[in-house]
Amino acid sequence: MSSNDKHKNRNNKAQYSKLPAEDDSEERQGLLSDDARVANADLESNERRLEGERLARYSVYGLWGHEDPRDRKNGGGKEHHRSGDDDDEDDRQGWSRKKIVYTAAGMIALLVGATMTNCVASVWGIGRRPEGQHSASTGSGMVKGFSGDMLRSNGTHDFKRTVVLVSIDGLRADYLDRGLTPHLLDISKKGLRAKSMRPIFPTLTFPNHWALMTGLYAESHGIVANNFWDPTLKEEFHYNKVASCWKPEWWFGEPMWESTEKASITTANLMWPGPPKTMSGASSTYFVPWKDKVPLDEKLDQITKWIDMPLEDRPQLILMYEPSLDQAGHATGPYSRRVNETLLKVDAFAKDLHNAMEARHLGSIVDIIFVSDHGMADTSHPEPIYMDDILGPEGLSAIEHEDGWPAMGIRFAPNANAAQYLETLTRASKTKQHKGKFHVYTHETMPKRWHFANNKRIAPIYVVPELGYILTTRKEGNVGMSKGNHGYDNKEPSMHAMFVAHGPFSHEAKAQVQTHTRRSMGTGRRPNGKCEGWHSTSDDAYILDTFQNVEIYNLVMKLLGTESKYTAPNNGTAGFWDKYL
Ligand SMILES: [Zn+2]
Repeated sequence: MSSNDKHKNRNNKAQYSKLPAEDDSEERQGLLSDDARVANADLESNERRLEGERLARYSVYGLWGHEDPRDRKNGGGKEHHRSGDDDDEDDRQGWSRKKIVYTAAGMIALLVGATMTNCVASVWGIGRRPEGQHSASTGSGMVKGFSGDMLRSNGTHDFKRTVVLVSIDGLRADYLDRGLTPHLLDISKKGLRAKSMRPIFPTLTFPNHWALMTGLYAESHGIVANNFWDPTLKEEFHYNKVASCWKPEWWFGEPMWESTEKASITTANLMWPGPPKTMSGASSTYFVPWKDKVPLDEKLDQITKWIDMPLEDRPQLILMYEPSLDQAGHATGPYSRRVNETLLKVDAFAKDLHNAMEARHLGSIVDIIFVSDHGMADTSHPEPIYMDDILGPEGLSAIEHEDGWPAMGIRFAPNANAAQYLETLTRASKTKQHKGKFHVYTHETMPKRWHFANNKRIAPIYVVPELGYILTTRKEGNVGMSKGNHGYDNKEPSMHAMFVAHGPFSHEAKAQVQTHTRRSMGTGRRPNGKCEGWHSTSDDAYILDTFQNVEIYNLVMKLLGTESKYTAPNNGTAGFWDKYL
């Protein structure tokens, strides 16, 4: 490794892993935070490039790359509806009182009739419907079978089943138990909540957001860290450098927006970490590129604009990404006031999103799923492990490429004695001084549960610290390390992510468990019968056991009715959601 390269690598690491102590400036945190993934300069030039390339058919929605946008039969505007109150005031003035009374009574009767018709239409899903399309069977009030091209009316408009998937970066599962997220909890009581969702290893933003999109572990989807070296491409992936990390060849697997687009489902992507296009050339219909510091109400506004589009243009799958909580967690630690204040804002957003759907009578049409990518550990007082003490200055300078953080994927220079350095590292990890503080793995010895070996992008030697420890050098020390971090073993509860869902999916799932409970009670079997893996609590919350986040891909495919024909191969468990849906 040239000293220049090494210096560059270390600078990169420093750029996202270290914060000057007590430096709380927003600008700095925006750049330094692990997942503030694009430096402003890169962003601006990239956005300029995007502006040029973006099709300009929609002024508000970032339409990206769709060569054949759907026809806009309604002339591009929102559908308008007669309000029913456009009577001419002048006419009314000359009327007798009796006529007014009779006419008013008639109008009230008409209004009541129309309202009832709407209610019935809403309940039975028989709103205005183009020929050739059929309604969901909703006679029981359930929406089972409501998917694909089926339409359901909210009383005024026809909708296809819709999924809004929101990722709140760094929302550690137990943040929900702090008493600061009453609305997320309320939504979870109306719907479902998992005890936690296990991220993939490494528990970093880019590997996990791509796992959520593809249902694949890192060894299969190829995003093996936020920064890593590809020995075939002979190039470094770095999440902070858009010009290289958006190249489609980095991203293996098929994201859910590609699978659903194949099924002719319109999709919208609001800053979800990942590329605008995959290797096959696929893109979401609407794409809003990453930008830091976009207020949550602007994101809500964008989502409702998409929801309010005419049926022909409206996305059925909406993805949204929010980084502020992760940024706060890195800057001031998971137990800080800033994290708690950001949690309050995230919770207010959850309420506003929920209310926006309720105001549109979309409770039985739109599934809202809140997830996160990983948790956050307190790293304010880490114990340093000095790599130069172990490898010696010579060994340290023999490192050609260094991947990931806080774990360290190591590639030694071709002329270095890598086997000897591996032996040195392994021996050190077993000494009294270091035992239980870090582990050294190769592809052969990597824990199987990580599914993190079978890919050339995974460095041949991986040093993984336990919680509470950092890998560093005498020169770097631990001065200025971020107060919170993630990337550790995915079995650690502090690394676990959240899952809260509300909508027709959760209604169906609750009905399932209630049915099973009734049947079980009738037969004397223990409650919940077949529905193992979750339970209801006294306050009517339904809690799923912890599950792996690669299951989310199949959930969304199932909700949108595309599960069999268009589902790409993935690491989700076959039939995982059958007990809930
Ligand atoms: Zn982060």
